This record gives sequence, C-alpha cells and structure tokens, in this order.
Amino acid sequence: MGRKVYADNAATTAVSPQVLEAMLPFYKEVYGNPSSLYGLGQEAKAKLEQARETVAKCLGAKPNEIFFTSCGTESDNWAIKGCAKAQLKKHGKNHIITSAFEHHAVLHTCQALEKEGFAVTYLPVHKDGLVRPEEVESAITDKTALVTIMYANNEIGTIQPIPEIGEICQKHGVPFHTDAVQAVGNVHIDVKAQHIDMLSLSGHKLHGPKGVGALYVRLGTQLQNLLDGGAQERGKRGGTENVAEIAGLAAAMEEACSTIDQRIARLTPMRDKLIDGLLKIERSRLNGHREHRLPGNVHFCFQGVEGESLLLMLDMQGVSASSGSACTSGSLDPSHVLLAIGLPHGVAHGSLRLSFGDYNTMEDVDYLLEVIPPIIQRLRAMSPLWDSIQKGQVSYDEYM
Ligand code: PLP
Repeated sequence: MGRKVYADNAATTAVSPQVLEAMLPFYKEVYGNPSSLYGLGQEAKAKLEQARETVAKCLGAKPNEIFFTSCGTESDNWAIKGCAKAQLKKHGKNHIITSAFEHHAVLHTCQALEKEGFAVTYLPVHKDGLVRPEEVESAITDKTALVTIMYANNEIGTIQPIPEIGEICQKHGVPFHTDAVQAVGNVHIDVKAQHIDMLSLSGHKLHGPKGVGALYVRLGTQLQNLLDGGAQERGKRGGTENVAEIAGLAAAMEEACSTIDQRIARLTPMRDKLIDGLLKIERSRLNGHREHRLPGNVHFCFQGVEGESLLLMLDMQGVSASSGSACTSGSLDPSHVLLAIGLPHGVAHGSLRLSFGDYNTMEDVDYLLEVIPPIIQRLRAMSPLWDSIQKGQVSYDEYM
C-alpha cells in the first residue's frame, strides 16, 4: 500500500474520536426529544443548552445568541435573507454589500435577493486576495441593509480584515455578517471585540460532523424566522433539534478553539515548507497573500497544467486534493475566486488547493513535494498550452 495523504481539509475533515464519543450517547441512551417534559427529554435538552453555551463561549457570545442550523449554507442563507428582509420591512433599506469571491452560499443568496429587488454591491478583491475596509466604507449608503464579507476564503485561504470592517459597519449602524466557516478554529474570533453582528459556522470543517452548523446573531439584530413551526431555537427555526450532531459540533468547537495557537504553530511551518517547495517549480504561482492566510492553506496555479488532470494523477498517488472549493470542482468553469483576484482563464485552470488539518504531518508535506513536481512535468509534456508558452506564443508572465 502506498502512502495516503488527505490534503483537502477545507472541503471536509475526519470526525475526531472525541467528537464521535460526544455524539454516541444521543443515538443510544439519551435519545429523548428535547421538547419532551419527562427525564429523557429534559436530559437531551440540558445537553443541547450545554452545547449552546460551549459554542457561545468559543466565539465570545452569549448562549441566547447562538442558533443551531443544518450547515454553513443554511446559516449564510438565514443571516443574509433574514436580516436583509427585516431591514427592508422595518427601515425600507434594500442594499447589500458583499465581495466578489464569497462562497456560493453567500453569492447565490445575494443573487436570489437581487431577483427580489435588492441592489447588491460586489466589492472587488485585490490581487492579494484581500478586501479593503475603506472600499466597504465607500460602498455604504443610507439604503445599506447589510454587509456580508467572509472571514477566510475557502479557496485561497486569505484572512480578511474582519475587525476593521466590523468597526466601520458599527460606525455606520449597518448589520455585519461574516461567513466564518473556514476560519473557526484557525483564527481567534471574538464577536464582540471584532464588531460582528452575525457569524456562520459549520461542524464538518473542524473535525466535527457534517450536516450541522450554527449562526451567531447579536442580541437586538433584526432577523426574520427561518422555519416556522415549533418553539425550537426560540421560535425562529422550528424542527426537532439534531442533538447528537449539535453535541458533536460543540465538542469539535471546544477542541478546535482551545488549540488555535497550537494549530497555527504546527500547521504554519508545514504550509510554508510546501509553498517554498512548490514555488521552485517553473511558472508556478502562489495565490493569495503569503501571510494573511489560513495556517493550513496552500493554493497554487501551474501554467500549462489542467487542474482536473492534476487531481486525477495525484489521486493515483494516494493524494486527495482539490482544484478549488468542493462545490465547484466537477464543473469546468474556472473558479470565480481566481477570476476575482484578476487571473485569466488560462492560468486559473491550472489550480491546486492543498489544505491541512489536525491529522496531517510534515511527512505528508515531504511526500507532496516528492510527487507533485514530476506530475506537473508529465502533464506539461502533453500540454499544447505549455508548448505555446515555451515558444513565447502565449505569455502569462505578468501573473507570476
Ligand atoms: N462557506 C464557506 C466559506 C465554505 O467553505 C463552505 C463549505 O465549503 C460553506 C460556506 C458551506 O458550508 P456547508 O458545507 O456546511 O453547507
């Protein structure tokens, strides 16, 4: 058996043993409905509220500011639609500010609101993969209902100046939402100190289970209900709570948020060694700011290489990686994130994302550096585009 390297932790992560342990009792023993009045239900209810406290503590929030959801996508949809529509109803505000390189959970939600008559400003993202706070401020008008800017990009891993953007929004009295699905556990987050009104997160990116997420909503933020039904989640999202997965999410958050510094200290040298090694490949390009990026994110473009073929050849070497976000791989369109940072299609097509989690090691990095360069060489030997680049008929020099 050859070596296996799972380097796609930005897509999803393995559930940790502690998380699994935390979930099991709710399938086997404590299976009561948290809304039931007898002991078994109340025990489940107590664990649910304990999980809410844990998640709140990890973010610097209050327990009654945490709503459990079914995923990061749901949290994003709820925050954006729920807040924008409440703002329209109460204050007649119909303008949303976001960035061009958000996850589709945000972009498509904003596009859906455009169809309902909202105006959306898609702020440009600079070459370094960062949004500029001053551009957020310039875009704010007296009609702005909401600003939504992601904490860390899921493809190129850049960490946005969230506290600065939050401060600007607070100054102008505009609600501020951030999609922190990739950031939680990798960045210190304090929603109060960082002026965040709403924050989305998801369990499966932090060694927790899939199909569970949370939305933090600062007390006093106007938000329409997501699911009308029972009184669960303070009447704003009806439906019997997924107690087992919520317990798993809380265990994952506790573990991830109490070890952020260790994670940064462990993953950063791995990331940097991989970046330095891959930069030695001729006509390779690191995407996103070198320092303002997630500790486990490496994202490259290799000229004259087709991303899908690269992934297939890596898979044959036991490496699981991605060319962009899990949701867009499978489509042949170049990533909207890479186009947003100004790359042309010809460069954007040759992209590779390698993302590390708690179970990767420096040996994984060494293995990646052993297998990637010869694969690039083989793919280039078959590539008409590489031939044209070599002959000077096509040039992407300005993007290097
Ligand atoms: N937002 C970002 C930045 C993501 O990376 C993802 C998942 O890839 C999501 C939202 C969606 O999260 P979920 O898969 O839990 O719906």
